[in-house]
Amino acid sequence: MTTTDNAGLLSLSGISKSFNGYTAVRDASLTINAGELVCFLGPSGCGKTTLLRLISGLETPDSGHITLGGQDITHAPPQFRNFGMVFQSYSLFPHLTVGKNVAYGLRCRKWGRVDTRSRVQEMLELVQLAEHIDKLPHQLSGGQQQRVAIARALAGRPHVLLLDEPFSALDAKVRAQLRGDMRDLQSRLGITTILVTHDQEEAMTVADRIVVMKDGRIEQIGSGPEVYHHPRTAFVAGFVGDINVLRVQRAASGALMLAGLPLTIHGPVDNDCVRVGIRPEAVTLAVGNETENCFPATVVKSQFMGKQTRLEIVLADQFLSLEVYGRVNIEIPPGDQLAVFLPPHEIRQMNEH
Ligand code: ATP
Repeated sequence: MTTTDNAGLLSLSGISKSFNGYTAVRDASLTINAGELVCFLGPSGCGKTTLLRLISGLETPDSGHITLGGQDITHAPPQFRNFGMVFQSYSLFPHLTVGKNVAYGLRCRKWGRVDTRSRVQEMLELVQLAEHIDKLPHQLSGGQQQRVAIARALAGRPHVLLLDEPFSALDAKVRAQLRGDMRDLQSRLGITTILVTHDQEEAMTVADRIVVMKDGRIEQIGSGPEVYHHPRTAFVAGFVGDINVLRVQRAASGALMLAGLPLTIHGPVDNDCVRVGIRPEAVTLAVGNETENCFPATVVKSQFMGKQTRLEIVLADQFLSLEVYGRVNIEIPPGDQLAVFLPPHEIRQMNEH
């Protein structure tokens, strides 16, 4: 593989893969830019790992093409691709020292002793484990073992780094620390990286772009703020955060109606729109000077949460959650009547697919 300026640029076009008649990945198309960190995000079984394995060459697609730096690698064996991989379980060789684990791929590629030693040293310094070079994996913590696995994956200067849920076996604090360190290292080295995760917070925290998957399909590709604030489907909206989904109707005049009252939306709405979404933190209690989108509602539940109070309300026959921030001096007991304001720029049409 020749290294060109855009050697990290990876493109998938119309990739599909089935196992015994079950379609695990369906018509996936995506371009990843050099130096980008992209997360594959979705629930268990949505095809994230299969897509990563197709990119790595561990699986072959039934249809579609994969290119790297403009070169077709659809059928290239994994070793030809030079992609570094880190898996969920610590896949270090238990009987080899940390140094020998990191050196393993280089020795397989017949690197000389001196070059190997200096690269291993460099990699272990990068992941701040240089002083552990002679230890065996079981003498390290889980987080340290994953750092070694990252050092090993980076040692051969891969075109792309593929990470399959590498932090999920670690406790929350170590996981947050390690993913932050991984992101810093990734940015510093400018290495094109794909991270598979089912954790939306993890994806939001580290990704340049998130690929949201469901049932083998890519539902949306965008930055964290894009997928959070402009979800294309009800699934994406609900997977990356809480969302109120409300039924709407069209009046004979063409106006959009919610609970018998006109609803204004700033942004694109199709004529056949039947559902809209709004995040709980975007709904506010009406203060009285609103000129539109003010709806009477009844409190069903009020939950004090410290920083905010979460209210469950019913608006005609539709349930809605909202979060009231700051000091709420008044008790809002169930059964209370109030009015809520739905800011027009915070409401989105919710598509099924
Ligand atoms: P998880 O987060 O649980 O790892 P995932 O999103 O990574 O899930 P995949 O592991 O890609 O999902 O699996 C997608 C679907 O394809 C699942 O239904 C899985 O059972 C099926 N599948 C994956 N690999 C194989 C295989 N080698 N043979 C048969 N079915 C497979």
